Amino acid sequence: MDSRPQTQPSVTRRQFLRSGARAAGLAGLGAFLGVIAGRSTAKGTVWQIDPQKCVRCGNCATHCVLEQSAVKCVHAYAICGYCQLCTGYFEPEPNDLNTGAENCLCPTSAIKRTYVEDPYYEYTIDEQLCIGCAKCVEGCNRFGNGSLFLQVRHDRCVNCNECFIAKVCAGDAFRRVPADQPYLLKTISH
Ligand code: SF4
Ligand code: SF4
Ligand code: SF4
Repeated sequence: MDSRPQTQPSVTRRQFLRSGARAAGLAGLGAFLGVIAGRSTAKGTVWQIDPQKCVRCGNCATHCVLEQSAVKCVHAYAICGYCQLCTGYFEPEPNDLNTGAENCLCPTSAIKRTYVEDPYYEYTIDEQLCIGCAKCVEGCNRFGNGSLFLQVRHDRCVNCNECFIAKVCAGDAFRRVPADQPYLLKTISH
């Protein structure tokens, strides 16, 4: 079902991007980094994915030693187009541009779509549901701005000496990064 509200919000697209979206993006990023900073106990270096090298092979979902992969999708709001037809959210040929399960790409319904202002929508990831399969990342990178990407979450990762996903990563995207700066976040489109 579409989450479009009955009344149109009074903010314009420009106001939204200047205030609400940017604030939401920064708040989301701050909360994301805050969670990790609070829970990561790794010293030295840790594994991370270079989002520019990831070719969305799907192995992040299936090759982590953890039952639930430590890899999750992250959304860079500052470079998102807030597209009505989000190719990270919708199947390649959706029946309709609404939130019906048959139209959605994500196998676990981890992406939420919220109406902002005609024709813009905001997309948020429920990290509890995300399995790191990269389907949305593929769609967003192939046809959109590339604002959806994968990162190893260091509040989950146990920092294996040899990361099992790195061994099978089709893009050779895994590398060691300093534990005190453990994320490689996208700030520009593609
Ligand atoms: S499509 Fe895959 S990577 Fe994207 S949010 Fe859903 S489970 Fe996570
Ligand atoms: S280092 Fe280990 S726990 Fe972390 S992502 Fe790789 S396989 Fe999973
Ligand atoms: S294994 Fe490598 S190329 Fe495949 S989805 Fe994960 S980071 Fe991307």
